[in-house]
Amino acid sequence: MSDVLILGYGPAGVSASLYALRAGLDVQLVGKDSGALGKAHLIQNYYGLEKPLTGEELLQVGKKQALDLGAKIAEDEVTDLMFNGSEFVATGLNGEYHGKVCIMATGAARKKQPLPGMAEMEGHGVSYCAVCDAFFYRQKNVAVMGSGEYALHETMELLNVVNSVTLLTNGVPLTANFPENVKVVDRKLKGLTGEGSFKGVVFDDDSTAEFDGLFVALGSANATDLALKAGAAFDQGKLVLDEDLQTTIPGLYAAGDCTGGILQVSVAVGEGARAAMAAIKYLRENR
Ligand SMILES: Cc1cc2nc3c(=O)[nH]c(=O)nc-3n(C[C@H](O)[C@H](O)[C@H](O)COP(=O)(O)OP(=O)(O)OC[C@H]3O[C@@H](n4cnc5c(N)ncnc54)[C@H](O)[C@@H]3O)c2cc1C
Repeated sequence: MSDVLILGYGPAGVSASLYALRAGLDVQLVGKDSGALGKAHLIQNYYGLEKPLTGEELLQVGKKQALDLGAKIAEDEVTDLMFNGSEFVATGLNGEYHGKVCIMATGAARKKQPLPGMAEMEGHGVSYCAVCDAFFYRQKNVAVMGSGEYALHETMELLNVVNSVTLLTNGVPLTANFPENVKVVDRKLKGLTGEGSFKGVVFDDDSTAEFDGLFVALGSANATDLALKAGAAFDQGKLVLDEDLQTTIPGLYAAGDCTGGILQVSVAVGEGARAAMAAIKYLRENR
């Protein structure tokens, strides 16, 4: 088990790792790709750059810095996070990662409400967390919206409890292998049915299909999804964080674009440092 488990190796995650490593802690970083930074054409407004770097170049410099100080870096997509009473366990496609504390630095959450009315139906038939809500749909027929590994993870969680799962890909090609007992519908979606609570979906040809519940699992799990699974509190849809960027679960922090606000490298680096320093203090006091 590592002392500090960091999800995401963008500026926030790597910055956090540098503080933890220099405090003599054992650090595990897990990231799935180059995140927002990898998409930045040229970074010109970050302190100390002799010449502008591409986002990808800056990312590689950061990862090397962490590696040189002794970080373990895994390339993996995390689909689940839990706290088992003594450690945080992140489940990835390739294995499990353990930490005494965990810093979520998974970048900005992509918009996960692609259909009108979806936000209003959250908690009324629309869910973003299978492990949290599957129980409410025992023996019922539910749909999962998504097409990749994260949707597969949510589907497998649901199959233990519900009667049937239909996968709604909304026209997006499948990137994971779903079991044969999952019906895959690849038609485009136009909307939801139900007044205030979810009843079903409307396809682009105006035909409809009814389900007891809809689980949204688009793209990959972000900090909000993972915090939900770990049991952290939310207030009006926002993750509750204290001044140390700690969630309501002691030892679980968030940093960088995933906390919202100004989405810039300098802010992500600063938040990574803040979360790491708080985590170091927490570990020293709770060892
Ligand atoms: C096109 C573009 C241009 C930009 N230009 C600038 C600029 O000029 N100046 C500037 O300061 N900022 C710029 N930004 C913003 C900047 O890139 C971000 O603010 C910064 O990268 C945020 O860092 P982060 O570590 O919070 O998140 P990211 O850089 O997004 O890193 C997130 C990390 O989390 C990982 N991750 C996410 N989900 C999972 C999962 N489920 N499992 C495992 N790993 C996961 C990703 O693989 C990645 O490693 C730009 C952004 C974009 C998109």
